[in-house]
Amino acid sequence: MCSKKEANPLHSLTFKLTLWYVGLFGALSLAVFILLYVTLSNNLYHRVDENLAREAQEFEGLYLKHGRKALAEEFNREAHSEGINRIFFRLVSPDGQILVSSNTTQWSGLHSRLKSPNLSPQDKVLFRTLALEVNHRRFRLLQKRLTDANVLQIGYALQKNEALMAKYRRVFAGTLIIMVVCGGIVGWFVARRAMSGVERVTRAAQSISRGDLSMRVPLGREGAEIRRLALAFNEMLEKISALIKELQDVTNNIAHDLRSPLTRIRGIIETTLTGKPDLPAYREMASSVSEETDRLINMINTMLEIAQTEAGLAKLSKSPVDARAIITDASELFEPVAQDKKIILEVDLPAQPLEIIADVPRLQRAVANLLDNAIKYTPEGGKVVLSARERNSTAVISVADTGIGILEADFPYLFDRFYRGDKSRSQPGSGLGLSLAKALVEAHGGRIYVSSTQGKGVTFTISLPLHSTS
Ligand code: ADP
Repeated sequence: MCSKKEANPLHSLTFKLTLWYVGLFGALSLAVFILLYVTLSNNLYHRVDENLAREAQEFEGLYLKHGRKALAEEFNREAHSEGINRIFFRLVSPDGQILVSSNTTQWSGLHSRLKSPNLSPQDKVLFRTLALEVNHRRFRLLQKRLTDANVLQIGYALQKNEALMAKYRRVFAGTLIIMVVCGGIVGWFVARRAMSGVERVTRAAQSISRGDLSMRVPLGREGAEIRRLALAFNEMLEKISALIKELQDVTNNIAHDLRSPLTRIRGIIETTLTGKPDLPAYREMASSVSEETDRLINMINTMLEIAQTEAGLAKLSKSPVDARAIITDASELFEPVAQDKKIILEVDLPAQPLEIIADVPRLQRAVANLLDNAIKYTPEGGKVVLSARERNSTAVISVADTGIGILEADFPYLFDRFYRGDKSRSQPGSGLGLSLAKALVEAHGGRIYVSSTQGKGVTFTISLPLHSTS
């Protein structure tokens, strides 16, 4: 179940990624726009200054050549052609007296604003941006000291420039909003696409938690990370499925195979109890029940050992050992049984030691299980050969008999827990010996396999890595 917080799209990673994207995109666009705006504004004011300087140059030439009267005429002509509200020209004395001026009726408050030229003796030309006191209209002022120490003043209203800059600002703001919105939409789709793989894994996990273990995450094309996540998730699912199957098998085994001895025990008790009360019958019952329970305990212990060994939980105390010693011990142990059944037990060992790393009692148990089967499933007069040799850096131990053999159809199931071949039903057994041998051999890093020629017995082979001393 997901909490309210997790279900809220505002808490999703997709939303957060989109926010990041929009934030970064917006900040970058804003920086670009600010840079563009400052450059534009500088260019505009630079052009105004250039024009003012050019005009001042022309007026200076005229003044020096033709005097004040000609300057006054040119002032008025220029002011009228440009617009008397947009430009003014003045010639003032160093103490601020106006000597010549264009029409400045549209520039109220100008005289008080420019009482004196305010031009230091070392300044030849000075540009300033000022605002009129009355209506706060801003203008650019050029002051130029002429050779006779009088000062030429040209003022240019900045209204038009400011209106243009305000227009730029509006266009920039509008474009920025559109870009951020479009960026947000694109960011949302990109983030959604990137997260779709994670979404698939989540859907698979949800479906598994509802019990559908067959679900696998389809591999998309979002990128290597998501692909790896999906692969790791599918691999984990395979493992979980295998473990659950194992668990089901064990449960089924318990249900099937432990039930029969229990039913037998119950049957013995019931038969005895329904008969006449009789001490010898009770004794017999107690002895049978004890035998059956021993068998049951053995089976349970073996099952536990197999499960623990297969899961890698059994602690093996391994040490270097000569495989030939394990075989000799096993043959000595089974010699009396073989003799009882009139079976020849032959041992064939190499002259050189076969050093392997093993938990001796456990490996002995695996070999003993094979030897026990070989003697059990070989009729009187038969032969069992226990041999060892070195092959391709492995120690190969084999137990071959001339017994009843195994049908090829049984091969795939031989090492399954509780599996018993049809031909061997007449013999006692639990069907656990080979599974335990396999689990033990594999815990030693080895392999176990079987070969049989119908009617000519069977050979079980164990191969184990040789201990390399180099
Ligand atoms: P059990 O011997 O107790 O039945 P195992 O797990 O040791 O259980 O063996 C499983 C089955 O494999 C046996 O029931 C038998 O059918 C077959 N089998 C094992 N070893 C031999 C053998 N040497 N010859 C013939 N059949 C064998």
